[in-house]
Amino acid sequence: MRIVLLGPPGAGKGTQAARLAQHFDCPHVSTGDIFRSNVAEGTELGQIAKQYMDQGDLVPDEVVIAMVMDRLSSPDCAGGFLLDGFPRTVAQAEALDLNLVAQDTPLHSVLCFEAADEELYRRLAGRSAELKRSDDGEETIRHRLEVYATKTRPLVDYYMHRRLLSIVDAVGHVEDVTARILDALDAARLSDRANGNGNHAGNGDGHANRHGRGYQPRSGAGAVADRAAATLRSR
Ligand code: AMP
Repeated sequence: MRIVLLGPPGAGKGTQAARLAQHFDCPHVSTGDIFRSNVAEGTELGQIAKQYMDQGDLVPDEVVIAMVMDRLSSPDCAGGFLLDGFPRTVAQAEALDLNLVAQDTPLHSVLCFEAADEELYRRLAGRSAELKRSDDGEETIRHRLEVYATKTRPLVDYYMHRRLLSIVDAVGHVEDVTARILDALDAARLSDRANGNGNHAGNGDGHANRHGRGYQPRSGAGAVADRAAATLRSR
């Protein structure tokens, strides 16, 4: 299975991704975890990422995209993966699409975790006390939720349009949320089969798969790189 987990900070993506990775026996690729381990090891990537993470900002697209594409090209991802925390911008989603389409390995499903803002604050504040993450201070939490709303939330439409999206209620016991996810994945598979789409990846019209008619990436890889470079220049 090639699955993306979307959702605001504090929605429980990491917990569920670890459980699903075990269930499907595939790697859990968490961009946040990769950055944190690079910060801990003091690598150059870690030093770049830390400046953004501490402020609750997103690491520039071209840095993240290169890192994820490199990770997904590892042999252990050949049979599938669970992406947790990527993509977080439309440019990242487009880059992922281009990469997967080029390899004829489209996504199977995108799960978007939903929880009320008060619940997210409560969880993030609890995690701050417990784990002492440098990006879990009150102001940073607020900013991260704003960044989610402006930069990442548009991906809900992006993937809904491609008929890949399932919304998951992320509130409740961990086991119950996992059960909801597995139900959602089953339902998506069934509806895909009913639409005659064998690879479980619609493009919005419910008939052709996303490689076929109707799949129109908004830009090419060059445009993604240009935009990322422009982002960096403007900082
Ligand atoms: P997370 O653990 O997924 O909440 O990620 C922690 C931090 O890492 C985020 O607040 C960002 O600063 C950075 N980060 C993780 N994934 C991405 C991404 N896909 N794009 C940009 N920044 C990211």
